[in-house]
Amino acid sequence: MATAFGSVFMPEMSITWFDGSSWSAVEMVPSDSISMHPGAHVLHYSSTCFEGLKAFRHEDGSVKIFRIDRNVSRMAQSARLLALPELDEEFMTKMILDTVTRFKSDVPAPPGSMYIRPTLFGTEPAIGKAAAPSETACFYVLLSPVGDYFAGGDRALRLLVDDQGLRCAPHNGMIKSGGNYASALLPTMRAKEKYNVDQVLFCPNGDVQETGAANFLLIDGDEVITRDLDESFLHGVTRDSVLQIARDNGLKVSERRLTVEELLERAAKPGCEAALSGTAAVLAPVGTLVYGDKEYTVGDGGIGETTLKLRKALNDIQWGKAEDKHGWLTDV
Ligand SMILES: *Cc1c(COP(=O)(O)O)cnc(C)c1O
Repeated sequence: MATAFGSVFMPEMSITWFDGSSWSAVEMVPSDSISMHPGAHVLHYSSTCFEGLKAFRHEDGSVKIFRIDRNVSRMAQSARLLALPELDEEFMTKMILDTVTRFKSDVPAPPGSMYIRPTLFGTEPAIGKAAAPSETACFYVLLSPVGDYFAGGDRALRLLVDDQGLRCAPHNGMIKSGGNYASALLPTMRAKEKYNVDQVLFCPNGDVQETGAANFLLIDGDEVITRDLDESFLHGVTRDSVLQIARDNGLKVSERRLTVEELLERAAKPGCEAALSGTAAVLAPVGTLVYGDKEYTVGDGGIGETTLKLRKALNDIQWGKAEDKHGWLTDV
């Protein structure tokens, strides 16, 4: 598929509306438009959150969704933290499963997949509610078939290490919300322009955190180091899965603070690797760090062996080529 990730959609999506007391019966509707009031809460006060997960086609023709329980509970958490109307987790799960079932035959074979984008937002027409939640809301499940993320070639990324700025307000870090992306956009654009980097690695107070849309892992020999969970950053399902696979493969997993100083020192060592984790790419190798106008090569600057091994191990589970030991796949 030559089109950009996430720009092709299935013609229909499932949708439900909250009227202040209950959610409407789920409907399948055309996915090309929705109608809402120009005063809708989301358009003014960013009352919105979303999820991103994938369905995979196995060789026997079956279709499985990866760790749906994690994404659904994170969605519920985002909704709670944004004071959006609550959505029952079972209800969301069923809606996602039903939507994928509807387009089961369109789920691409490996290395493609069906990307699932559940989205929730406040619809109340009330521009006076700057400091009050939306009483009404909409929730839909949009599907986007995606191809091979690395079709354009796998290359090691360049990251700007930023210990001055913030990705988003620290108390919003674990909410998967458009507002956090908007907040990281301009720093990322500036960094791309000035340093020719792909992403910004935000390191508030000198602590390595994450990029605008992916978690960061340092792989030093048989040790995987990544920040321990707190409310300041997004708790990636891929991060969690890769760490589990690393443990399964006898690697040592250290979830702890990592300072910029330690990062740069370790990264320079031969054999060191770094990677970004997220649903779209699973693991994307990082080859160069830019900090204080200086460039630091990670290991040999290329694509790390362990990074590829971990990515393949996770892909193999997703595509049914390795045993699903942890019960991560749900049948559609
Ligand atoms: C979605 C997201 C990630 C990756 O999470 P996954 O569950 O692995 O896809 C990481 N950081 C941010 C800010 C995100 O929004």
